[in-house]
Amino acid sequence: MKLPESLAIKSGHLYCGDVDTVQLAEKFGTPLYITNERHVIKNYRRFEAALKKYVDNVQLLYAAKANENPVLIQTLAREGAGADVFSLGELRAALEGGMPADKLLFNGSSKTQADLRAAVEHGIKISVDSVDELRQLDAITQELKKPVKIGFRINPEINVPTHPKIATGIKNSKFGIPAEMILDAYKEALACKYITPVGMHCHIGSQILEIEPFAIACGVMMKVAKEVTKLGVKLEFVDFGGGLGIPYHRGENPDKAPTPEEYAAAVMPVFVAACKEAGISPAFWVEPGRWMVGESTVLLTKVNSVKRVHKTFINVDAGFNLLIRPAMYDSWHEVIVANKADAPAKITATVTGPICETGDILAADRNLPETVTGDIVAVLDAGAYGYAMSSQYNSRPRCPEVLVNGDKAELMRRAETYEDMTATVVYPSWHRK
Ligand SMILES: *Cc1c(COP(=O)(O)O)cnc(C)c1O
Repeated sequence: MKLPESLAIKSGHLYCGDVDTVQLAEKFGTPLYITNERHVIKNYRRFEAALKKYVDNVQLLYAAKANENPVLIQTLAREGAGADVFSLGELRAALEGGMPADKLLFNGSSKTQADLRAAVEHGIKISVDSVDELRQLDAITQELKKPVKIGFRINPEINVPTHPKIATGIKNSKFGIPAEMILDAYKEALACKYITPVGMHCHIGSQILEIEPFAIACGVMMKVAKEVTKLGVKLEFVDFGGGLGIPYHRGENPDKAPTPEEYAAAVMPVFVAACKEAGISPAFWVEPGRWMVGESTVLLTKVNSVKRVHKTFINVDAGFNLLIRPAMYDSWHEVIVANKADAPAKITATVTGPICETGDILAADRNLPETVTGDIVAVLDAGAYGYAMSSQYNSRPRCPEVLVNGDKAELMRRAETYEDMTATVVYPSWHRK
């Protein structure tokens, strides 16, 4: 199996950076998320360098929803990243992580008045998703007498080869405004007293393993850019969203994931040529989430028991409460027995979590070494939409997150306690003694 760069196998154990994951499991307990910070930094620099080969005016906006831990956001902020935020919580995490307001874009198809107000007050650009939202924003800015810069989320209506739940730029998607309605939206925005339309935004989907849809989307966007420019809009940025996939299948028939260099080679020439033709020079914005952090992280989980019935079940202490992707998207994550990392496969087994649901399966029918109670199973590529989508279902407190940098390993989030989980419970008067 070809491991992600964040991992290595040394004397039979799985290592993250220079740290033995088996020792981390002992020290911090399981379940445990472990993130290799240097891998995240390397990813950021590589993505940015790939784009800057073509144009200088490039801004990466980390999609905070992939993992919104402010520590990780700080890591990326120090590299110069901005963020795509989808809620007040993500906005706070981005600001707490040290990202400057002018590198943030507030996204979402269903924003509240409070979302819009906060964005205006913090001086954050907004990706407006409907004309209704534009009118509400107009009213808010008039009341606050504060300017705001916006872009519109455009639906480029492209079919992308990915799981239907994460295809966001198809014709019947809830996201964005169709290209044929977009000019009227910009006209209306231009007429608003405090609103200045300066950008365009799209995001065609997630975990996309082909390059072509990105180039097609770029073409559609730049056509609109030309039209919008004719209306009098001075475009400061065109934001092409995220979506670049990672190779979750690493064994036989591994996924062939496109690289940022391949992405840049396909998309940037389209962008550069269209800018030249339209006589404009907006910044190139892109919003990778999964690609930035997905491969950087493993979820460590301990074997509670092994059950041999009609098949072999390896019952571990992490389930879809901590990593919902397999249950929600039928996603594949490779698993490695961290303390037997180079032992030959001897059994076929299904790794199941502790949740009271039949669907609580992390990895079905995998070839693994002889596995026993107490072994540590590492679930790979768990950095994106892992902890971020976790829950307390079955009243299980969330596990800690550890950040590794070289030979250093420290908590970046402690474990939740029962008290954390119940801190919001209120007994109605007739329930009080
Ligand atoms: C989710 C999302 C992203 C990130 O997608 P990835 O597939 O993780 O790169 C970027 N932009 C927007 C608007 C999103 O909703």
